Amino acid sequence: MEKKTQRSQRTLVLVPAPYQGHINPMLQLGAFLHSKGFSITVVHTHFNSPNPSNHHNFTFLSIPDGLTAGQISSGNPIGILLAINANCKESFQQCLTQLMKQEARNDITCIIHDELVYFPEPVANNLNIPSLILRPNSATNFIARSALLRLHSKGYIPFPLPVFITCNYDKLWITDSLSLKPVPELHPLRFKDLPISTFDTLENYSKLMVNAQNVRTSSAIIWNTPDCLEQSSLEQIQQQCQVPIFSIGPLHKIATAASSSLLEEDTSCIEWLDKQSHNSVIYVSLGSLASIAKKDLDEMAWGLANSEQPFLWVIRPGSVCGSDWIDLLPQGFKKAVGERGCIVQWAPQKEILAHDAVGGFWSHCGWNSTLESISEGVPMICKPFSYDQKVHARYLSQVWKIGLQLENEIERGETERAVRKLMVDIEGKEMRVRALELKEKIEASFKSGSLYGSLNDLVDLIRSF
Ligand code: UDP
Repeated sequence: MEKKTQRSQRTLVLVPAPYQGHINPMLQLGAFLHSKGFSITVVHTHFNSPNPSNHHNFTFLSIPDGLTAGQISSGNPIGILLAINANCKESFQQCLTQLMKQEARNDITCIIHDELVYFPEPVANNLNIPSLILRPNSATNFIARSALLRLHSKGYIPFPLPVFITCNYDKLWITDSLSLKPVPELHPLRFKDLPISTFDTLENYSKLMVNAQNVRTSSAIIWNTPDCLEQSSLEQIQQQCQVPIFSIGPLHKIATAASSSLLEEDTSCIEWLDKQSHNSVIYVSLGSLASIAKKDLDEMAWGLANSEQPFLWVIRPGSVCGSDWIDLLPQGFKKAVGERGCIVQWAPQKEILAHDAVGGFWSHCGWNSTLESISEGVPMICKPFSYDQKVHARYLSQVWKIGLQLENEIERGETERAVRKLMVDIEGKEMRVRALELKEKIEASFKSGSLYGSLNDLVDLIRSF
């Protein structure tokens, strides 16, 4: 690419995928690159648009995404992302052309887009602007996803599988005979751990993933993962990848970005946490997309109540199939737990995991939640639902050994035992020790300079465009 010699302003255009677990790392990356002197413009869809008020240093530009009301209300991220990729190329091109015409912003240095939104790449090529991909996900998941797509193309997995409603996903694997068998060369992953989606057909899912995996003409890949956690997966990927890989996670520790929550954070739970003793509280949150059936909520509730441990529980509006928020807690539950439980709709998660009172995290194992927990040395109860979460749950329990995986349907007795095991028993204490060792490893990567080396190399690459 021809080098530009005169520039009035070095603008980086960031294009996040419109979901919480993708917006957060992209804006964290933006905060870091802004601290290095770049001007940041975030181009986003109307759907799930980030709140600009917390990011005064960034410019936010919204583009029409052409999503229908039906697509939005379907809650199917695969369908929504496929539609966005099909619809947004033109509006993005117009947006950039407009941006380049503006006097003070005539130099777009490069475009950084999430792996799940690949529509910016052909536009970048048209306009002769370099592009980079952000993978806000684990490297191990990338390898598992490649294996899944290979197995799909060879017909090893019984495709097509039926479309699942989000509340019944576990049943897929229970009835599948391959379920518990190990995937060749992916030890310790089993077929049931492959990063499959429960929101759409596997045909649609693989269409999206084939595009997400493809590097195409991107100049480099940025990975939100620490080298010290995923070294062998990263090395394996780099051997096959034609462009440089920058593993610069965990991004939330690299630049202090303001909150980019799509839902309002209820900070009152911090006051409640302040009253609890050291490492005593289990924090429970299933992320921004997973949903459960009412009967699962009841089992979780009674498991938490019967464990007799203090808990802070995020019940996201809409996360319990077919029910409104808190009215749905089982009768007698609130009386049984009293002040021992705190329930909110959305929480300042990073602050919670860093709080002295939090000693465990019951999580769906999204990658951001996983990194946020490991970064604070908090061991986990792993209840994965979909996508990469199963890969992470398996790694947390079998490789890093800082998580207890709940393999079966949610049941109060198993829940109670798992909470006690993590919060009270020796097994949980040992996991906490290992989690703290991982936290220290991550902190050491900051101090040793290896991480800063990668960050500087990334900045140098962008400056070279
Ligand atoms: N999160 C939050 N408050 C909550 C629950 C989640 O701020 O009450 C944030 C969490 O810190 C993480 C993101 O939402 O950064 C969820 O991303 P993740 O990859 O863990 O899961 P996803 O929501 O994509 O399934």
